[in-house]
Amino acid sequence: MPLFFTCKQVSNHLSKEDYEKLSPMGKLSLKFHVLICPVCGAYNRQVMKFQDMARKFRTRQEEMLEAESPDAPRLEAEKREKIKAALRAAAENSDA
Ligand SMILES: [Zn+2]
Repeated sequence: MPLFFTCKQVSNHLSKEDYEKLSPMGKLSLKFHVLICPVCGAYNRQVMKFQDMARKFRTRQEEMLEAESPDAPRLEAEKREKIKAALRAAAENSDA
C-alpha cells in the first residue's frame, strides 16, 4: 500500500466502495490526498461526504430497528408463558 495515492487510485477506491473499508493507513492517505489535491480534491471530498452520510443513514436505520425491538423480548416472554401454561394444563389433564 503506497503512502500516497494518485488521483486515479483515489477515484478508483471511492467509486468502488465506501472509503471507510480501506485500511486505517489507506484511509489516512486518501483523506490526505483529497485534502491537498487541487485536481480531484474538491470532487472527491464531496464523494466522501456522501459516503459518510450514507453510512450514518444506515446506522440510524439500524438504531431505529433496535429501538423498535425492546417490545419483542417481552412479547416473546408472554408467548412463552402462554405455551408453558398450555403445557401445564395438558400435563394436568393427562394425569387426571
Ligand atoms: Zn487528486
